[in-house]
Amino acid sequence: MTDWLKAAQSQEKDYLNDLTALMKIPSVRDDSAATDEYPLGPRPAQALAAFLEMAEQDGFRTKNIDNVVGYAEWGEGDETLAILAHLDVMPAGKGWDTDPFDPVIKDGNLYGRGASDDKGPGMAAYYALKYLKDQGVIFNKRVRFIVGTDEESNWTGMHRYFEVEPAPTLGFSPDAEFPVINGEKGQVSLKIGAPATNGDQYVLESFHSGLRFNMVPREAVALVTVPDRNEVTAAFDQFVDDNPISGTAEETAEGLRLTVIGKAAHGMEPEQGINAGTYLATFLDRYNFAGGAKSFIHFLAKYLHLDTRMAGFDGAFTDPVMGELTMNAGILNFDQDNGADIDMNFRFPKGITPDELETNVKRVTDQLGMTVAQGPSQKPHYVDPEDPIVKTLMQAYIDQTGDTDAKPEVVGGGTYGRLMDRGVAFGALMPQTPNTMHQANEFQPVAALIKSMAIYMEAINNLVTD
Ligand code: ZN
Ligand code: ZN
Repeated sequence: MTDWLKAAQSQEKDYLNDLTALMKIPSVRDDSAATDEYPLGPRPAQALAAFLEMAEQDGFRTKNIDNVVGYAEWGEGDETLAILAHLDVMPAGKGWDTDPFDPVIKDGNLYGRGASDDKGPGMAAYYALKYLKDQGVIFNKRVRFIVGTDEESNWTGMHRYFEVEPAPTLGFSPDAEFPVINGEKGQVSLKIGAPATNGDQYVLESFHSGLRFNMVPREAVALVTVPDRNEVTAAFDQFVDDNPISGTAEETAEGLRLTVIGKAAHGMEPEQGINAGTYLATFLDRYNFAGGAKSFIHFLAKYLHLDTRMAGFDGAFTDPVMGELTMNAGILNFDQDNGADIDMNFRFPKGITPDELETNVKRVTDQLGMTVAQGPSQKPHYVDPEDPIVKTLMQAYIDQTGDTDAKPEVVGGGTYGRLMDRGVAFGALMPQTPNTMHQANEFQPVAALIKSMAIYMEAINNLVTD
């Protein structure tokens, strides 16, 4: 039997070279720089072009589709096995100890944006495929390694792929954790609005918290006009001392500026974060704000603070197979022109619908004079654990890790796996590695990435020679 770990280790140097070259490209979607040629801004397209150039040099057939998605292909056959990864990354955010776009290895860990989500795992899967190709393995199916460039926002590239190319029905996405994720919750955002009105004693000039709907906000900044700045500053300092946050109150020409720092986390596990926005609102909720500003503050403080399960809306829900409904308050904004702009992002199991979620939230927003609008949604996705794709991937994971207790899992989703009838997510976060995706100081142990490459080698080998 092939020693896949040894095979993977033989690729380490080349893998790290190619990976760090891609990680140096800050491939964050940038709508302000979007053009017809680069609809997501130039950086995601730059990462795509760099990858396709590597793949072409490695001997793959490649295609760039409209600068938003592309693939490297090997093998022939009626059936296509698709491996779906992404080259875009989340904005760096603050709080890094090193340059997020200048990857470094410290104590065996590779630090940098994309180390874990998804350049590190994606390139591990790519190198597994490349190794099998270079070894002359005869593929009984076509394998397409497809890379999107807008996974963190709207999946623009991958949706384009499924519009213009034949849809694969079988495959996996190396964009989550091990072992196999055969179920992904559905996803929907509710946008909450409130009028841009204030009282005259306490005025919320502006409130900004959160970069993305799928991230717990690390920072919140409010600009307020208050009758007694000293009193509010003293109370704020006390509030910061009493809570697991840091913060500052500064006098400025425009008013008193209050800043809270919490902890970012992925929006599908919001309980791992400390939501700076709902903390700041909780502090402000003790004062006599009025109008839309008061509704905004009170909604955050009373209904979103320290609650990621909709308990405050009487809306908690759990499915026995797919688990709990979760909620992330990812974007929390208010200003004097637009009023409130809140994005509540939900991950829901089968058994509950976006309309039911909206009804639960609307009961509260109606009382507060606020509005609710439902964004586009994704349905829950579930692949039978007895499906051969699940069994083959599970076996490769167990063979390489010795983790014989491992079982397929359901997560808050959504990865590209859901795009295929028999699609799952597979790696590359090992159970013992901390999940730093979307956070400052994102990292992956190099040894874990190499082990994941070995798992992908065995898995792809068994899928293309079965
Ligand atoms: Zn990802
Ligand atoms: Zn991500």
